[in-house]
Amino acid sequence: MKILVANLGSTSFKYRLFDIDDTQASLLANGGFERVTDYTQCIESMLQGLSDDGHLDTGEDLDAVGFKTVLGKDLSGCVEANDRVLEALDGFKEVAPAHNPAYAEGIRCFSDKLPNVTRVALFETAFYQWVEPAAREYAIPKNWRDIGIRRYGFHGASHKFVAERSAELLGSEAIAKRARGLYVDGPTSYHGPPLRVISCHLGGSSSVTGIKNGVAMGTSMGFSPQSGLPQNNRVGDLDSMAIPYVSKILDIDIEEAERQLNKESGLLGLSGVGNDIRDISKAASGGSKEAQLAIDHLVESIRHWAGSFFFKMGGAEAIVFTAGIGENNTEVRSKVCAGLEELGLELDQEKNEKTRLGTEGVISAESSRIKVLVIPANEELVIAREVYRFMNTRQISLNN
Ligand code: ADP
Repeated sequence: MKILVANLGSTSFKYRLFDIDDTQASLLANGGFERVTDYTQCIESMLQGLSDDGHLDTGEDLDAVGFKTVLGKDLSGCVEANDRVLEALDGFKEVAPAHNPAYAEGIRCFSDKLPNVTRVALFETAFYQWVEPAAREYAIPKNWRDIGIRRYGFHGASHKFVAERSAELLGSEAIAKRARGLYVDGPTSYHGPPLRVISCHLGGSSSVTGIKNGVAMGTSMGFSPQSGLPQNNRVGDLDSMAIPYVSKILDIDIEEAERQLNKESGLLGLSGVGNDIRDISKAASGGSKEAQLAIDHLVESIRHWAGSFFFKMGGAEAIVFTAGIGENNTEVRSKVCAGLEELGLELDQEKNEKTRLGTEGVISAESSRIKVLVIPANEELVIAREVYRFMNTRQISLNN
């Protein structure tokens, strides 16, 4: 079955084309466009390119297109990307302004260009459907909770891939299988030795998730993707009382406060240098105290959430780094793991330095009881597999 996975950023469009069956998924092609202003143009160029390279004929020969949709109002799981999905994205467009409108536009574009090809959405929130209420509710009045204010969680496909791959790498096929089948079977019974993984997705946006035996126990991300760790230019956790206070003292309205929190905060806001950790690291090496503070604050937040999951899960067998910063930034990895020898975690600095640029590896010392892994992100594979299953069964996956 030929499945195209479309990854729509607020300014980028990336894709991967898979040929997938019950036993394997082969990547036929991948590519993307930066600084996108017109998705239709991108989709046309992509289809032309895939046709020129002999992977597709007109595009109508695709079996399905999968979308990594972020946050739907009253909707999660893996579902056909129809009007209900567009309504759900629209219902929370203010909560995920960098993501929801882009996906809605992308889905509409594919529907216009390739009307006969099934579109399927896998929501990023799906991985968190088994997080217990005590860990996902906020202490707010009932009428706030009734309109959906709660912790949802994002980067679900990425953390799910970490759940699967870390279990494979650490030799637990039973847990890898449990994690792979999660959206169909739910958390199946498991009585073997525990595998508690602290998964750190550190990229343009970042989150930490605690995963026990393949199932998410909780996440640093909250109601919106502007929460938890500091993001590239978006704020992480912030006391809610700061907004009315800033609004009064700086004399800005709530929309302007929101804009500054969404566009001028996070690593950019603290460093004053940029939103890319490479630029920030360079400035820190050149003596910028603000740039160093941004890196240290990121490390502090990762350790805060990792520590929380360590306690919640009663320990950890592994900590995993994934996504742009997690796969490449040796300083962040080293600082996150520093001083934890008494807990049984010891980094091998040489392996840490060598494991970069999309390579997978174990970077802890041989003697380290807690393994430290680098796993290149592969959200698209998780989406392709779920879309394949959806196409075969036409059943939506479990969702709350
Ligand atoms: P997203 O998909 O959310 O944009 P990515 O996982 O692609 O996130 O991560 C992008 C971020 O990762 C960049 O903003 C940058 O901070 C960091 N990054 C990417 N490549 C490298 C690299 N080679 N070295 C260090 N940091 C990198």
